[in-house]
Amino acid sequence: DDFCFDLPKIELHAHLNGSLSDQCLKKLNCMDESTKEYKRIADVLDKTERTLTECFEVFNIAHRATNTVDAVYKATQSVIRDFYLNDHVVYLELRTTPRAEEGMSKEDYVSAVVRAIKENNLEIIVKLILSIDRRHSTEESLDTLNVILKMKTKYPDVIVGIDLSGNPHEGKFNVDLFQKARDNGLKTSIHCAEIKNDEEVENILTFGPDRLGHATFLHPSFGGSQSNWDIYCKKKIPVECCLTSNVICGTSKSFQEHHIREWIKSSLPFCICTDDKGVFCTSLKKEYEMVVEHHGLEPKDLWQISYNTVDYIFASDEIKTRLKVKLMNWYNSHE
Ligand code: IMP
Repeated sequence: DDFCFDLPKIELHAHLNGSLSDQCLKKLNCMDESTKEYKRIADVLDKTERTLTECFEVFNIAHRATNTVDAVYKATQSVIRDFYLNDHVVYLELRTTPRAEEGMSKEDYVSAVVRAIKENNLEIIVKLILSIDRRHSTEESLDTLNVILKMKTKYPDVIVGIDLSGNPHEGKFNVDLFQKARDNGLKTSIHCAEIKNDEEVENILTFGPDRLGHATFLHPSFGGSQSNWDIYCKKKIPVECCLTSNVICGTSKSFQEHHIREWIKSSLPFCICTDDKGVFCTSLKKEYEMVVEHHGLEPKDLWQISYNTVDYIFASDEIKTRLKVKLMNWYNSHE
């Protein structure tokens, strides 16, 4: 009996274009293996040690594959199916950056993702978080925010939150933008402390997002400042932990030395996520297995982690109750 597969799971940190399987990318016809860019990216994928910046180049492949409305729709459909069928995810918050391409506006992009989510008829609830890319200028980010707010008005039952992501070496957290999003009813999840940057971490913690992505260098034993850790401990913001992603990108030394151990040790709120299951060749089931293998947990603890995660989702109390009932029923039938 495959416990980690079978356990109903909740995925809260999955970037759409990083989650595409190789099969899906091939179907979308972007893996033109004769191109120079493909070779360069394939070289990066073959390396055992990559820089964070190199990891981000890999997304170019996927972005090339999802540059039409139809491809965005199919890609979303494929990722949802994959999470449900191959990973037994029962609640998914997918995130993606609204992107304009020739013949596709940012609104078209978001509409295609929403359409795939709404047409999903599997037993998985899917919500959408829209991302702002850190690389973008204030002007471009404001433009994206306006699109996000407009689409949220149109699809309030699907669009639940906003995220800040992208290469952490570039750009910075713009509090005004996220305050505006919050004032307009969006939940916030911010990538935080992916690299050591105490000043930005302080700004993010002071703002107090609903969830934090990664938080790799937040704890003092991972190089974070004591004063930021003190703020964190007062707020106890749930952290989305993505072990394989951090190990492959080299921000975590190993699975054992992943900062999740501090959250486990001190019973701080966290959830287990994949980040980019396609790019990092992982699955939520594998991530759960890694936590058992390297952090000494028992299967029962995994059930508790999945159950606790329900409290961190951005959807309604009614959905939270439904998920808790599902997990309780599963628990009772597996005793
Ligand atoms: P998309 O938003 O659906 O296009 O998904 C890919 C994008 O997600 C990348 O271009 C990055 O901006 C963002 N992303 C994926 N993984 C990470 C991460 O580990 N840290 C920060 N940003 C990420």
